[in-house]
Amino acid sequence: MRSQLSRKTTNKGKRFLGVRFVNCACYGRLYQNDEGTAYVGSCPRCGKCYQARIGEKGTDNRMFMAAC
Ligand SMILES: [Zn+2]
Repeated sequence: MRSQLSRKTTNKGKRFLGVRFVNCACYGRLYQNDEGTAYVGSCPRCGKCYQARIGEKGTDNRMFMAAC
């Protein structure tokens, strides 16, 4: 399934979520995209991209876990 979410995060000072990438046992951040529809980011170790839609269950959490 192809996602149509924008991955652009050009503005500074965006909201972000703290994420624990469980497969690499490290932490990273997902920044809100320009459209405000999702938080996007990538694992700092393996570089795999991750995104979380805003408004779906769980995205109100300030910290959550992602399998990368
Ligand atoms: Zn990783």
